Amino acid sequence: MIDRWRVFIEEIKSVVDEDRILYSVPMKEQTSIRVGGAAKMLILPSCRKEIAEIIKMLYRMKIPYYVVGNGTNLIVSDEGYPGVIIRLAENYSDIKVDGSEITALSGASLAAVSNIAMLNSLTGLEFASGIPGTIGGAVAMNAGAYNCEMKDVVAETSCIDEQGNLLLLKGAEHDFGYRSSRIQKEKLIVVEVRVRLQRGNISDIKEKMRYFNECRREKQPLDLPSAGSVFKRPPGYYAGRLIEDAGLKGYRIGGAKISEKHCGFIVNTGNATANDVIKLIEYVKERVFQHSGVMLEHEVKILGG
Ligand SMILES: Cc1cc2nc3c(=O)[nH]c(=O)nc-3n(C[C@H](O)[C@H](O)[C@H](O)COP(=O)(O)OP(=O)(O)OC[C@H]3O[C@@H](n4cnc5c(N)ncnc54)[C@H](O)[C@@H]3O)c2cc1C
Repeated sequence: MIDRWRVFIEEIKSVVDEDRILYSVPMKEQTSIRVGGAAKMLILPSCRKEIAEIIKMLYRMKIPYYVVGNGTNLIVSDEGYPGVIIRLAENYSDIKVDGSEITALSGASLAAVSNIAMLNSLTGLEFASGIPGTIGGAVAMNAGAYNCEMKDVVAETSCIDEQGNLLLLKGAEHDFGYRSSRIQKEKLIVVEVRVRLQRGNISDIKEKMRYFNECRREKQPLDLPSAGSVFKRPPGYYAGRLIEDAGLKGYRIGGAKISEKHCGFIVNTGNATANDVIKLIEYVKERVFQHSGVMLEHEVKILGG
């Protein structure tokens, strides 16, 4: 493995500029919940060709990798990640508008894409304007809010598979489900997303975005680091309500706490470790099951450990 790494480190420099190859990167600095140990390497590609070449190289050398966007739905273990993190965010985020369609590189933030939609009087993405991830992460997760989800607007995505091949997915081919997609199941990398929106009225769109974001500020603990709602909504219930009913409001393990404002959120009160958060997730599942008979499933992705 050591030799493979040495070769990889040499070869990767001919594909990506050295200032976009980082070593021993603390993942607590790359995730919104601010926990997690170091990734052995983190690469910030800036074009599709680089992504494909990196993947081909990793595949050939059998080096593990994981793709992240803004790290807003991710918990990395305290032991860190012994492979390559490919981060598709600011360095890879161009957005173009063509009639009622917007094409964005997968690292574009949802807030930026929604804002451009609004400025072009395009409606359909208002629900996403307060979700803090990238559009690539949102497609992978089929992110949603206020009764809408990415599935409703995604027309097509360009993806790269585990061997570095490009493939195009249209509509139903994404196999979208509740916070799931074919992207996750087949470990594809979203490189570009085309969303199809409707013509609307700019002030109505602005007002809807303002209202949704006000609802978020009112209901969610946005003042503390978190990974958003930790658990999927079980059919017929709300995870937050089940957790509150099990008496866990404000319950803490180390620096990780069930938010008093929204029991579906686990917040980092300042010095939480990934272990605190993961233990709290398991504890919540156990207690909620004992109390209501409902087994919660976590929505956040846990890497390593
Ligand atoms: C305060 C707060 C509020 C939130 N509100 C919502 C909400 O209302 N609705 C909602 O659905 N979520 C919400 N989230 C969770 C999160 O923002 C979304 O899931 C978001 O879509 C994740 O995007 P990301 O770029 O941060 O992905 P990451 O957290 O970086 O990654 C999440 C998953 O997507 C994969 N991924 C990321 N980028 C790509 C890519 N380009 N190609 C393939 N796979 C990729 C990763 O491998 C990982 O499995 C919230 C989070 C926070 C912190």
